[in-house]
Amino acid sequence: MSTAKILNFIDGAYREGRSWFEKRNPCDNQVFAAVAEAGKDEVDAAVAAARKALRGPWGRMTVHERAAILHRVADGITARFEEFLAAECRDTGKPRSLASHIDIPRGAANFKIFADLVKNVPTESFVLDTPDGKGAVNYALRRPKGVIGVICPWNLPLLLMTWKVGPALACGNTVVVKPSEETPSTAALLGEVMNEAGVPPGVYNVVHGFGPDSAGEYITSHPDVNAVTFTGETRTGAAIMRAGAGFIRPVSLELGGKNPALVFADADLDKAIEGTMRSVFANCGQVCLGTERVFVERPVFDQFVERLRTGAEGLVIGTPDDKAANMGPLVSREHQSKVLSYYQKARDLGAAVVTGGGTPEVPAALAEGAWVQPTIWTGLGDDSAIMREEIFGPCCHISPFDDEDEVVARGNDTEYGLCCSIWTENASKAHRVASQMDTGLVWVNSWFLRDLRTPFGGSKRSGIGREGGVHSLEFYTELSNVCVKL
Ligand code: NDP
Repeated sequence: MSTAKILNFIDGAYREGRSWFEKRNPCDNQVFAAVAEAGKDEVDAAVAAARKALRGPWGRMTVHERAAILHRVADGITARFEEFLAAECRDTGKPRSLASHIDIPRGAANFKIFADLVKNVPTESFVLDTPDGKGAVNYALRRPKGVIGVICPWNLPLLLMTWKVGPALACGNTVVVKPSEETPSTAALLGEVMNEAGVPPGVYNVVHGFGPDSAGEYITSHPDVNAVTFTGETRTGAAIMRAGAGFIRPVSLELGGKNPALVFADADLDKAIEGTMRSVFANCGQVCLGTERVFVERPVFDQFVERLRTGAEGLVIGTPDDKAANMGPLVSREHQSKVLSYYQKARDLGAAVVTGGGTPEVPAALAEGAWVQPTIWTGLGDDSAIMREEIFGPCCHISPFDDEDEVVARGNDTEYGLCCSIWTENASKAHRVASQMDTGLVWVNSWFLRDLRTPFGGSKRSGIGREGGVHSLEFYTELSNVCVKL
């Protein structure tokens, strides 16, 4: 085995842990690195370093000084673009074309965006009349919350991690990050960039490991962590809430989804097909915002199914370096088993398999990789497991509908509430339907079009809280009111 080592990053230096675990390449399931698993000692050291850094130079810097350093972090990622790209693609198997357009540039941009935002955001102020006629002035101060635990998933590792670390640091906090065990590389590499950019030791710490009885749980149950921000599965989010309950610790949760697309007969079908192709199959379907339930108005149902099938069958499966490929493997063999179990379940439930439903043919060298076919089903009821449970693979079920009220009710008939896409050329209908969807995000005639100043997050079991723009500041700062009697 090639034994690259991926280490914890604590107090500005790389450290081994209590043991090692293997990191495998999802394209061929070969081990390419040993990852240092942090035990309690390493997590304690990371939290202590983060606490100390709050009192040190980081805690005394002006907003402008912090912002300048975070700009250097973003520039440092960009300067080492190829290294970050290679690391992200090796961990996830995703096409270079995707990671070079989304994961790495947005990962860098998250530092600049929040640094600039924090410099410019106002706080409120009130003048109060008092009986003596002299009055009082109130003004609000935003102060960092302290040490933030950041627990991340594997689907967009650098992007989703910096989406939390960017605002946390911009607001003056320090962080202890636990990347997913599947994607440890870019978080570790970022430690080098932090040092080069002049981020003081202890401000950014990374501990590797798993959830229960490992680094994840040690962070979320640590008494000296002030808040935890988490992106991942709804079940894990519940465990993290329970862990923090005794400390009355704030949590920000970005959780799962079972997102619908509503395609009306008056939609521009070229746009609807292009958008739905991306929302179902991008990143091999491993996007929290991805569409797994498509509802199409009956007059265009057959045409839509046929066109999406043609699109799916045109996808080219391959390794990150394959320039022709636009779909990689799933992140791991374990996740492949989960997705394939749903492919089997769909067949058992009597779904019509429009395309896919199994594993693709790949060259012998890739036979052990986590490959699955892009898959489309029709014919299942809204109560089937395929329509209710998040699969997180390159697949969707397409159902016909007959009227607007019906499709609004069916689109909302899920325990999740992350996002939906509405496809129609009728502007009144678009606004009317958008206002009725129980989701944190609604796209009309688009998908994944993100203005980073806008609120991002899910309702129902898709999460608690909103991130993005000033909404990130709500979580990463403590608002204190100062009342001055004149
Ligand atoms: P998981 O919930 O399995 O894991 C997320 C992170 O939590 C990992 O680092 C994991 O560690 C860690 N973890 C697991 N159990 C615990 C625990 N008890 N205490 C503390 N940490 C724990 O999610 P996935 O990584 O599988 O990511 C996919 C999920 O993320 C999907 O449900 C998807 O919808 C959701 N997601 C939501 C987004 C949103 O914005 N709403 C965006 C992207 C994804 P380890 O992996 O090492 O076990």
